[in-house]
Amino acid sequence: MIQKSTRLDNVFYEIRGPIFEKAMDLEKQGYRVTRLNIGNPAPFGFEAPDEIVHDVMVNLRNGQGYTDSKGLFAARKAIMHYSQSKGLPSVHEEDIIIGNGVSELIMLSMQALLNNDDEILIPTPDYPLWTAAVTLSGGKAVHYLCDEASDWYPDLADMERKITSRTKGLVIINPNNPTGAVYPPEVLQQIVRLAERHKLIVFSDEIYDKILYDEAVHHSTAAFTEDVLCLTFSGLSKNYLAAGFRAGWMVASGNKAIASSYLEGLNALASMRLCSNVPSQFAIQTALGGYQNIKDLVLPSGRLYKQREVCYERLTSIPGITCVKPSGAFYMFPKIDTKKFNIQSDEKLVLDLLIDQHVLLVQGSGFNWAQPDHFRVVYLPMVEELAITLDKLAEFLKTYDGA
Ligand code: PLP
Repeated sequence: MIQKSTRLDNVFYEIRGPIFEKAMDLEKQGYRVTRLNIGNPAPFGFEAPDEIVHDVMVNLRNGQGYTDSKGLFAARKAIMHYSQSKGLPSVHEEDIIIGNGVSELIMLSMQALLNNDDEILIPTPDYPLWTAAVTLSGGKAVHYLCDEASDWYPDLADMERKITSRTKGLVIINPNNPTGAVYPPEVLQQIVRLAERHKLIVFSDEIYDKILYDEAVHHSTAAFTEDVLCLTFSGLSKNYLAAGFRAGWMVASGNKAIASSYLEGLNALASMRLCSNVPSQFAIQTALGGYQNIKDLVLPSGRLYKQREVCYERLTSIPGITCVKPSGAFYMFPKIDTKKFNIQSDEKLVLDLLIDQHVLLVQGSGFNWAQPDHFRVVYLPMVEELAITLDKLAEFLKTYDGA
């Protein structure tokens, strides 16, 4: 028997896990499954802005060779200007690495840093790649609580309690996946002060920083400190609806002087994978400099805004379900009354729903949430389909018994 590496023993990514496989099986058998499980806008009819697609097309011939391993100079320059406009201190084009999506850079940032048993503070609930990347790199993911009773903002006291002599850094996901929370500047200030006191690196995943509703304003964590090293992550997948292009970036700012060895390590790993997908890199400058069509989608007249409204209304009208209304991204993380439905396993709940109604969600435990009382909904489908799908969930729950 050929065995997988033991390094994978505790590595999980439930968004494409066993229940997802089961949904694929159902589709192969001819059933139509409504996928509210993955934040992939294109299959729901969202299109990247034309000028971005155009720039990739006209540059296909120019994109045949490798680039600098950090990425095209013009693309990095555009990222530099964008970072400066968000207040990130002392960013130059050499502080930027372009990757095959933020995913690759999350892996790289952990692999270059961690020795066995080094700890990284990660939110619960989290975007699970962060936890997986830490574990796969030999480190230990320590989860700090985001508090549902406080609009899912990070619980600073819990974060501080969990810092040990082995803690190397902390991860912030803002706007948040899976809760949709957008953090106010005071919260970010407190987090960076804590990072400064304990000399932690700040990893700020800001991949949804343009998907904001109502009066929400996004602030980059790195803008609040020059004293610690901050790595800020973003890309084209969500803000520009181009997840398949696999284009993301990572920006180092703040106290780079204390981190020359780590930054060298990051560059070494970036060099070993030569460079990221080159045709997609040509889209970056256009995306950051051009007309931002995502803005129209999040206005009250826009598609994403309307979908959020319908999703929230339908979910919260189901007896036994409550939800904090999200201010950003395109996810909701509702709470389900486990007593009412006799739920011991959120995985069973999601699997039962899939089999019964052919609706695919992801269980809260897939986001490293410890209790079986949450699940995540992706509200990318059109309002009509969302309404029908959430009505199926309501119907299913009328008689559900999780025992
Ligand atoms: N970070 C967060 C919070 C995400 O939700 C996702 C994708 O869903 C990623 C990173 C990965 O994005 P990319 O497509 O750039 O690899």
